[in-house]
Amino acid sequence: MDFKFTKEQIQLREEVRGFLRTEKEKGIYPFGANSFLELPCKEFSKEVAKKGWIGMAWPKEYGGQGLGYTDRLIMLEEMFRVGAPIAFHYLADRQVGPGLIHFGSDFLKKEFLPKILNADISFCLLFSEPGAGSDLANCRTTAVEKGDHFIVNGQKVWTTGAHRTDYGWALVRTNFDPNISRYDAFSEMIIDMKSPGITVRPIINMVGVHSFNEVFFDNVEVPKEYLVGKKDNGFRQIMTNLDYERSGIDRLMQNYLVKESLIEYVKTNERDGQPLSKDPLIRDTVAKLEVEFHVARLFIYYVASLLDHGKMPTFEAAIGKTVSTLYEARLADVATNVMGLHGLLMSDSPEALFNGVVCESYLWSPSYTIQGGVVEVLKNIVARRGLKLATK
Ligand SMILES: Cc1cc2nc3c(=O)[nH]c(=O)nc-3n(C[C@H](O)[C@H](O)[C@H](O)COP(=O)(O)OP(=O)(O)OC[C@H]3O[C@@H](n4cnc5c(N)ncnc54)[C@H](O)[C@@H]3O)c2cc1C
Repeated sequence: MDFKFTKEQIQLREEVRGFLRTEKEKGIYPFGANSFLELPCKEFSKEVAKKGWIGMAWPKEYGGQGLGYTDRLIMLEEMFRVGAPIAFHYLADRQVGPGLIHFGSDFLKKEFLPKILNADISFCLLFSEPGAGSDLANCRTTAVEKGDHFIVNGQKVWTTGAHRTDYGWALVRTNFDPNISRYDAFSEMIIDMKSPGITVRPIINMVGVHSFNEVFFDNVEVPKEYLVGKKDNGFRQIMTNLDYERSGIDRLMQNYLVKESLIEYVKTNERDGQPLSKDPLIRDTVAKLEVEFHVARLFIYYVASLLDHGKMPTFEAAIGKTVSTLYEARLADVATNVMGLHGLLMSDSPEALFNGVVCESYLWSPSYTIQGGVVEVLKNIVARRGLKLATK
């Protein structure tokens, strides 16, 4: 085991830092916490694309750089460290591209991979439904074959970015035989979000932000070529897709700016005439957070190394996401408490510190252990696939 980065990886990190300094100095792109979901910026994504940092770990034959997942992680860690606005391309790079490379037809690969690599198109994920979140096999949105098309009817919910993305990556029911296992009843397909029959309705979250949506399908025609992989094999495919989603550093780093703000606040503020940095309780709490952060970071690098060795990290990705999301929920809680009244001000308040990131992350925090798979389900994956504990 060797924990050292290679010379090339150290250079890559420096190159990304330099690029981000320049892009930030331009002052034309928004930077901030939660930027992989909340800050879509096609122009910035185009600059990232020019550097070859979209599809970095995809094989060269598909236009990627053929680099490792550790290289990609280094690049992403730097993007998250400064809150770079990567939301336009992030989901497509993280899981749509790899999903297409694994399962897509030649037509789909040719049609979509180059556009993802150039940051020409963006994707949303159409999985969850009102009665199907953790239990995705309960999806009720249907896709019925008719001539050259599928006709899609139903409803999705919590779809991040459906109001601003070009395509959706959907899980739909395609087999209606009551005698088959429900795990053999679904397919994955790409849906053009501008198709007639799609209605996107905003859901305003607790932060007051329009991030996710309800999406309704009323006889939406989807060309058969847009089916991804084998018909009725979608449930199995989507599990691979979710492993990619859970393997990332996003959950750990999306609130890096909150961690930095907290430490800065503790270093520069006093309470009752005493520097906060000398308060033993605050020192202990902040140090504990730092320990949790570094343990999670090391684990995520381990997950990337498994991917580099061709292993699909199912239960390891579940552990990584569990420790990261529990950490970031605690970070939001600790930061709000330590900063007292300052921790309660949002960015629109003239008295807000650090652009209100602490209060906003507190309001976002209930979602951290839910999005991309709830913590209880992730623990089930660890128990079943990692520890081989029996299911009932
Ligand atoms: C910010 C945010 C963004 C999202 N973006 C998207 C998106 O872009 N696309 C998309 O498709 N979805 C998205 N989601 C939805 C997300 O994937 C679901 O919310 C999640 O999978 C949980 O499903 P659910 O909301 O139906 O909750 P449920 O599955 O009903 O779970 C509710 C609670 O029940 C308990 N529970 C459920 N199952 C088990 C179990 N097996 N064992 C023990 N306890 C259990 C847990 O305590 C859980 O918190 C997003 C969610 C959030 C919060």
